[in-house]
Amino acid sequence: MPDVIQLLSDHIANQIAAGEVIQRPASAVKELLENAVDAGATEIQLVVRDAGKELVQVIDNGKGMSVTDARMSFERHATSKIRNIDDLFTIRTMGFRGEALASIAAVAQVEMKTRQHDAEVGTRICVEATDVKLQEPAAAAPGTNIMVKNLFYNVPARRHFLKSNTTEFRHILDEFTRVALAHPKIAFRLWHNNVEQFHLEAGNLKTRIIGLLGNSFEKNMVPVEENTELINISGFIGKPEAATRTRGMQFFFINNRFIRSSFLNHAIMTAYEGLIEKEAFPFYVLFLDVDPSRVDVNVHPTKQEVKFDDDRMMYAYLHATAKHALARYNIAPSLDFTL
Ligand code: ADP
Ligand code: MG
Repeated sequence: MPDVIQLLSDHIANQIAAGEVIQRPASAVKELLENAVDAGATEIQLVVRDAGKELVQVIDNGKGMSVTDARMSFERHATSKIRNIDDLFTIRTMGFRGEALASIAAVAQVEMKTRQHDAEVGTRICVEATDVKLQEPAAAAPGTNIMVKNLFYNVPARRHFLKSNTTEFRHILDEFTRVALAHPKIAFRLWHNNVEQFHLEAGNLKTRIIGLLGNSFEKNMVPVEENTELINISGFIGKPEAATRTRGMQFFFINNRFIRSSFLNHAIMTAYEGLIEKEAFPFYVLFLDVDPSRVDVNVHPTKQEVKFDDDRMMYAYLHATAKHALARYNIAPSLDFTL
């Protein structure tokens, strides 16, 4: 019998990886915004056309890339953020897999301009379906400007399964909101079809929540701040009377990374027991800072799940913290805390 095993080409391997990392335009938004954050940007602009189906563009004033790094950044498993497996347990950047740009470039037409602050000229590179079409010197502002055009143009089945623009844009807004909440010191702007949707100045968490979620939040937030050797918890939780019928306004961040956790959510919900109706959901934006060696962020490619080395302790502590904050609010409702 002949041998039958072959290595997959880079094209196919990247497309398969893209299937896990890039499900929809919002996935590209998340990855590009996180790259801008990791690059140390203080201003980030997101420009979207046709709910990201036509264009997702992120412009940052971060550190930019050298000519070689600009080329390398589109290789699979190419990253500047970890060198060995131990680095995973001290990781402070949003990215580390080195898969995002390779995945995006496997399923879209990508154009990137980037310049390091001390470089005289920048570089412009165009990549389509994993193939580098051109790279040339180019005038560019310091930082990185990356355009992702016609996502899934070469994977018709995936393009076909994208939802309506309303739905896809809602996913984009979710990602934008999470990254902007987690980084209130960075200024963010968002345009959709040439209409500016958000213009968020650099500020603190309180101004960022109000800027993103609306003025009505100003009066309805209770500050949370608890620190121990194991964990720091900070942020805001909503006053019981401001609870809503939908659960949209609930955010957990662990070491600045947005996560979903029905387990931790339960810890908060039970703190409101007796204070809100059964079907109501309190608002919260909570940041849990733990030693990175005590959480495993590596369990899922899109990194929205985490594992703690001590779940029960985390639960109990979070629950007590929420109760404490609510109690303090009941006793002293007019005190103004600012972060
Ligand atoms: P990861 O973020 O996991 O390292 P990516 O594929 O997202 O992988 O990016 C690959 C590399 O390209 C990054 O490690 C970084 O060095 C570089 N890079 C990507 N985006 C930017 C950016 N906006 N500014 C500076 N460097 C970037
Ligand atoms: Mg990345």
